[in-house]
Amino acid sequence: MKIYLVGGAVRDKLLGRPVKEKDFVVVGATPADMLKKGFRQVGKDFPVFLHPETNEEYALARMERKVGRGYTGFEFDASPSVTLEEDLLRRDLTINAMAESAEGALIDPFHGQADLKKKLLRHVSPAFIEDPVRILRLARFAARFSALGFTVAPETMQLMQEMVTSGEVDALVAERVWKELERALQEEHPEKFFEVLEACGALSVLFPQLKNTNIVELKKAAEQFQDDELRFSVLLHHLTAAQIKEITERYRVPASYRDLALLVSEHLDKYTHAKDFSAEQLLNVLLVTDAFRRGARFEKFLNACLSITGQPKAFLDAVLAAASAVTTKDLSLENLPGNEIGKLLNSKRIDSINNFLSNINLSNK
Ligand code: ATP
Repeated sequence: MKIYLVGGAVRDKLLGRPVKEKDFVVVGATPADMLKKGFRQVGKDFPVFLHPETNEEYALARMERKVGRGYTGFEFDASPSVTLEEDLLRRDLTINAMAESAEGALIDPFHGQADLKKKLLRHVSPAFIEDPVRILRLARFAARFSALGFTVAPETMQLMQEMVTSGEVDALVAERVWKELERALQEEHPEKFFEVLEACGALSVLFPQLKNTNIVELKKAAEQFQDDELRFSVLLHHLTAAQIKEITERYRVPASYRDLALLVSEHLDKYTHAKDFSAEQLLNVLLVTDAFRRGARFEKFLNACLSITGQPKAFLDAVLAAASAVTTKDLSLENLPGNEIGKLLNSKRIDSINNFLSNINLSNK
């Protein structure tokens, strides 16, 4: 048997980027050979194994053939006669279809290294059309590598457009869309993900709500903040609550992303106008955003609003600090029923906010 390093690790090494995960392809072996060497099989039917010590993935070289729609529609042949080139042929992009031998030789039948130099995201073969996840993956790689100058090869863009027209994209399952979107949101230029989807026509199939979205706002948010929940909320802030829920329900987006997006879309205008608010109105902003109990989420809310509006967040931060300085310990609580405690607490908070407001008025004079 022969073992090769493949995929992302070879690509990232050539790019001089840190290698996060090493995947290997094994040529000329059977599952029994692998088990004999102490590898553990992952899944029952799939020829992928984990190394007994490093836990890195070793997959038997395989060929894939599409036999039906969707994800169960693939048949594969992982017999020991499958060659390395045949395994590389089933991969998505030329830059992901290179291998390195144990001796350090590069095996590059589809000219991935040349495409790295030309900074091109290009499909390996026409079989690219068989899996619509590849569109999302490509868009995600555009988000990751666009700062390096990478663009989509024109013939690949055309292929993706054909995939959208032929309805291939409709077969994408929700979990995969969310997984790729979530990862795209963590990349350096998440807005490129949407640019590519728009350019090939997939955006209107997958996210029709985002048709007129200003992705410059997402770009700006990504320059300022790493947090992908925050970036997601900036992307969706101009949508209605119903539209946001359409997206989060369709793709089973985790509640934390949904809730921050809803919060920002609903309360952004309060952030914008906070300086004209009375102490009562300001306390109301803190209450409706649950700022006292959900401090970390409120910070993300403020940062999202800051990124969208360009207006500093110091004012609302200070309002929260003033209101938070009052605690139930400061109140004399003897014999007060629960709702009275709440009322008293809020009236003290309003006093404290008023105090803060008159202090800034004084210092402005
Ligand atoms: P990342 O840095 O995001 O992990 P990666 O290229 O290592 O990138 P993986 O998802 O780990 O991505 O996939 C490993 C390799 O498997 C890829 O480099 C590619 O060659 C191949 N691959 C993964 N998914 C697909 C797919 N849907 N279609 C074709 N090839 C794929």
